[in-house]
Parts: sequence; C-alpha cells; structure tokens
Amino acid sequence: MKVHEYQAKEIFAQYGVPIPPGKIISQEEKAEAAAKEIGGNIWAVKAQVHAGGRGKAGGVKIAKNIEEVKKFVSEILGMRLITHQTGDAGKIVKKVYLEGGVAIQTEFYLGIVLDRTLEKPVMITSTEGGMEIEKVAEKNPEKIIKIAIDPLTGFQNFHARKLAFGLKLTKEQQREFSKFASTLYKVYLETDASLIEINPLVLTQENNFIALDAKINFDDNALFRHPEIIKLRDLDEEEPSEIEAKKFNLSYVKLDGNVGCMVNGAGLAMSTMDIIKYYQGEPANFLDVGGNASAETVAKGFDIILRDPNVKAIFINIFGGIVRCDRIANGILEATQKTEVAVPLIVRLDGTNSEKAAQILKNAKIKNIIYASNLADGAQKAVIAAKGEQK
Ligand code: ADP
Ligand code: MG
Repeated sequence: MKVHEYQAKEIFAQYGVPIPPGKIISQEEKAEAAAKEIGGNIWAVKAQVHAGGRGKAGGVKIAKNIEEVKKFVSEILGMRLITHQTGDAGKIVKKVYLEGGVAIQTEFYLGIVLDRTLEKPVMITSTEGGMEIEKVAEKNPEKIIKIAIDPLTGFQNFHARKLAFGLKLTKEQQREFSKFASTLYKVYLETDASLIEINPLVLTQENNFIALDAKINFDDNALFRHPEIIKLRDLDEEEPSEIEAKKFNLSYVKLDGNVGCMVNGAGLAMSTMDIIKYYQGEPANFLDVGGNASAETVAKGFDIILRDPNVKAIFINIFGGIVRCDRIANGILEATQKTEVAVPLIVRLDGTNSEKAAQILKNAKIKNIIYASNLADGAQKAVIAAKGEQK
C-alpha cells in the first residue's frame, strides 16, 4: 500500500525522524493561515499524489512570500500532474502540502528496501540526492552505497559508519547521520514497510539532517496488524478496477496491453503473461481468479477485464485442479449472457472436468469463441486475435 508524502512524514514525526514543519491543505482559502502558522519566510508548496518526480513536473514550488504561497497553492490544487511515474493520464491533485522552506547545504539519497535475493533489508545511500536514483544506478553505480542488514542483529553502528564514510561526512555529521539512519530502520521494521525512500535527505546549513521528501510503501500482507496505517489509504489514488476486483477476492493488476487474461493461480497467470509477450503480444492485465472461483467471480472478472477499452481479445487459461473447469465454463456463460462480449475469447480449459466444460461451451454456441489445445496455442491465437487478424 502506498501513502502520500505528508502521511509518511507524520509517521516519521511519530518516531522522531526530523522533518520540516508542514500543513496539509485541500482548499486554497486555507493557504495563508497555514503559511503563517508554519512561520518563516520561505515555503515549499507540494502536490500530494502517489507518484514521484513532482518537482520536475511543476508539482513542487518554492514560495518566497505569502502572495506566492497563495498563488502556487491555487495553481497546484486541481492541476493534472503528469510525472514520469504517473503515466500519460497524470493525476489530479486534490491536496497540497505546505512546508517550511529548508536552507539546503547538501542533498543525499537514503532508502531502505527488502532485497529478496539476500533475504535482508538493504539500506541504500548516495551523494546524488534529489535525482532519479534509477538513473544514478544506471550511469554512476559507484555512487551508490548499499549495506545489507541482518534482521536478527538489526542496524549496527558499523552499518552507519560505512554509509557515512561513503557520503564523506565529518565526525560530527556522522553522529547525526547514525542516529537518523537507525531511527529510520526502526520505522521500517515496526510499520512493516516494504520500502522507505528519502530523496532528498538534506543536510541543512545548520548541519542537521532532515527528510525533505518521504515515501513509504507498506507490505499489504502485514496490514492486518496496522489498523492505523490502513486508515491512511487514499482510494482516489488507486486504479478503480483494482479496487473493485479486491472486493471480489480477485487479484487483478491493470497493465497497458490489449490481450485480457483470465487465469487461475498466480504462477500460471505470470507464465500466461510471459508467453503472450513471447509471441509478441502485450497483456492487458494480470488476473488470478483464485482456487475457489465461482461462476459469479468469473463473471465479475470478465466484467472488470472488459471495462478496459484497450482489450481486443481475452485469453482464458484455466488449469482445473482445485477449481473445476465446468464452473469456469458456467462463469463464461453467465458473463456472456449478462454483457455482450464483442471481442474474441480464446479458451484453453485443461484438467478437472475439462470435457464437461467444453460441452457446456459448445452447447451454448457463444459467439467469438476460439478453442485452444494448449498454452502455447492459446497464447498465439490470442495475440493474433488481438491484432484483429483473425475472427
Ligand atoms: P519529487 O521527488 O516528487 O520531485 P521532492 O519532495 O523531492 O519531490 O521535491 C523536489 C525538490 O524540491 C527537492 O529536491 C528539493 O530541492 C525541493 N524541496 C522540496 N521540499 C522542500 C523544502 N521544504 N524546502 C526547500 N526545498 C524543498
Ligand atoms: Mg523527491
């Protein structure tokens, strides 16, 4: 689960990770009072959307007086912000965060992420703060310093020293940094975060470290033990079809291609996407209907796939193990009776009750059905059908 910068910063504040003072605003009339309450004579006006790259896209502005605060808040509120992380559609800004301006001495990068290969959290830092870290990793990998942290022994002084050494900090700065980094590790552990990123982490002109930006992603599988974090969810920032799918226990992720996929089992769903790509197609989604799929959930899955106007063919790839093929066939029937499915349906049903399923579908005389004999055959037919080269 993702949260906004201002929410991540609230969590930082609870743990004592230093942040600038700030106020969240959703109406421009509140800007002036908020700026006065924050105090100082320089402010940052920051669009709150679940995406980075706001600065370059005009979503972060520095105001040097109250008039500018009001102007920037009114400009940014309601704007469609398009950053390299939002996609072409961008995101409408519904809230802005007004923050005290910080006198920056140096900008660093600091992050913690789970490294699945090492099976450990990894703390990453770089002198190249404020830039896209992916680009630094690509062009100047030597400027990225990483340490793996053993979850049993936790974050140690030598970890902090190694990172601080890489950042070429003075003795005094090292002490500050060490405190900052170990508190951040505590936040990571205790909130069950899957990623924390501070870009930039700033050394102020007074020689203090402060988090100028904040991103936290939480592990969805651990949310059940964090009711206070679940409350931070902003449904406006999520894909509506994914929210709908969750209500029906469908694991659905929208993608950009044109071959809709209806599959049972996450592993099979992943390989289905792979094989579609192998045959030069592009999957429109990931969808695992799960092991207990009923006719109703299958019908719902159809409904969700078909809402995506890019979908030009649907590949139904079911290996009947726990889920029986005849149930899926009934779901397809139900779905095609409810909504007209105008795109070709490529069906591969194998395993338990597959003959019964084939019979159900044949008797129903559904339009646009193309039968596939196996996975590879199905994927090829789906890719061709999506290109409109076969009916
Ligand atoms: P994004 O990563 O989405 O572009 P950031 O929060 O990193 O957004 O802000 C972009 C840049 O704006 C930062 O690198 C920093 O230079 C500047 N900035 C952000 N917040 C402040 C602040 N409170 N005071 C001064 N400068 C800021
Ligand atoms: Mg940033």
